[in-house]
Amino acid sequence: MKREFIKDDNEETNNRLVELLKAIPVRDLIARAIEARDMAYCPYSEYAVGAALLTKDGKTYLGCNIENAAYGPTNCAERTAIFKAVSEGERHFKAIAITGSPKGRKIDQFAFPCGVCRQVMMEFCNPETFIVIVAKSETDYKVYALKELIPEGFGPENLKG
Ligand SMILES: [Zn+2]
Repeated sequence: MKREFIKDDNEETNNRLVELLKAIPVRDLIARAIEARDMAYCPYSEYAVGAALLTKDGKTYLGCNIENAAYGPTNCAERTAIFKAVSEGERHFKAIAITGSPKGRKIDQFAFPCGVCRQVMMEFCNPETFIVIVAKSETDYKVYALKELIPEGFGPENLKG
């Protein structure tokens, strides 16, 4: 498998991801993210997003975007899933699948995580091994290591002396 969609893909990163992906039920995780998208509360943007987060122990936590009339308190699907998991005591994660498109429409675009969600992932996930799956369907998706989406990111490791 080669991630042809990635420009200047580095062979070492590619091979490592292919290896890590063997331990991830990719199709199932995407199906769960699609299911989570149905719960999106997005009356303002009308852009519905679903996420499914896989823990190291194989548990899945779902999240959807939850908007607010005051806009600022809005929460993304990815962070909803991560915060649900963390609040249940989970701390170790393997992958997240994300699906999004305008509400009521078939998923026809790749919905990448926003910068805030990428930063929250940096807090709890190893940027080298945590996998981000951005999907249109169970068979049409892109795969990244977190560090590819937030290069030179700032995380808990930076605070260690
Ligand atoms: Zn976000």
